[in-house]
Amino acid sequence: MPPRLHEQFPLRAFNSFGVEARARFFCRVQAAADLAALAAEPKLAGLPRLLLGGGSNLLLTRDFDGIAIRIEVPGLADLGAADDAWHVEVGAGENWHATVERLLAMGRPGLENLALIPGNAGATPIQNIGAYGLELAERFESLAAWDFDQQRLVRMSAAECDFGYRDSVFKHALSGRRAIVSIRLALPKQWQPVAGYADVAHELKGRAITQPTAREIFDVVVAIRRRKLPDPAKIGNAGSFFKNPVVTRDEHRALIAHHPSLVGYPLPGGRVKLAAAWLIDAAGLKGATRGRAGVYEKQALVLVNRGGATGAEILALAREVQDKVAEKFGIVLEPEPVIV
Ligand SMILES: Cc1cc2nc3c(=O)[nH]c(=O)nc-3n(C[C@H](O)[C@H](O)[C@H](O)COP(=O)(O)OP(=O)(O)OC[C@H]3O[C@@H](n4cnc5c(N)ncnc54)[C@H](O)[C@@H]3O)c2cc1C
Repeated sequence: MPPRLHEQFPLRAFNSFGVEARARFFCRVQAAADLAALAAEPKLAGLPRLLLGGGSNLLLTRDFDGIAIRIEVPGLADLGAADDAWHVEVGAGENWHATVERLLAMGRPGLENLALIPGNAGATPIQNIGAYGLELAERFESLAAWDFDQQRLVRMSAAECDFGYRDSVFKHALSGRRAIVSIRLALPKQWQPVAGYADVAHELKGRAITQPTAREIFDVVVAIRRRKLPDPAKIGNAGSFFKNPVVTRDEHRALIAHHPSLVGYPLPGGRVKLAAAWLIDAAGLKGATRGRAGVYEKQALVLVNRGGATGAEILALAREVQDKVAEKFGIVLEPEPVIV
């Protein structure tokens, strides 16, 4: 049975910015076979595809004249131990945070630094999610994806995913061409806390924890995130709207000469990652409001829907942020969410 097709389907509940947009067609898929069945649907021939998870890293700027496919493949399987890791497989439709917590309860720690990142497991490789000193790539083994051109399931290794900072091949050559149906993770048997990130270290110190358990790291990360980031259920947003830009050592030196309080983190090889939030704040935009869109007052990296904003309004504000930062610092900020 092919999945049921809905026409002129409202996507407001399927994007964490909470903007209004309609998809010409919409369907939910529970298995790879559903994706195969879509090929036989003449109405969809030649139409663009929009793959959807939790919609927490998307900005819909207008109606989508194609087929929006919500990937809801369920499942969490313990594949056992091999070498120095526990292997698990997670269906693309599973909620990410709930998965992190379930694995912890199953005695499979290793993802706790990525707690409370909204969205579903299937989208985690798209931008190689990262937070508080850990990236998905460090726990990733492989994934299974439906290839729409070849009409078959393919397995992809980490190398084939070409992970980078908030980046992967799915944002480039394979954008919209493969639907991830499950991911496999390798969680270290010899678990070690990842507690070096300044916020985490500070919070642990405040709680007088010197040798944290995985559960304690999880609790600390959840507490920090609840304080700093707006809850999309209350105020529409997609988390960080811009990536932190990376500059050369010389560029960094030149910037520091003019802006001594500029915040940057040295990277291996002499390059420096700049805090985009600092640049936006210094450009005078923290807390700014344009129409119904805004720059979040507690964290300048987050653009918010103050109520009833359109995707176009949010995009216009993003462009203004980019222009002002470029004008003041000569740096072009790159958006993190996928703009549709
Ligand atoms: C409050 C808040 C905090 C956040 N914090 C972080 C953070 O700390 N670190 C971080 O990295 N991100 C963060 N994000 C961004 C976001 O939560 C993650 O990128 C998340 O992985 C997106 O998952 P999703 O299911 O919502 O994806 P969606 O928004 O539904 O989709 C994102 C992209 O992935 C594609 N996609 C989705 N599912 C599939 C699939 N199964 N197969 C192929 N393509 C697919 C979509 O087409 C789209 O291009 C945050 C967002 C919010 C709202």
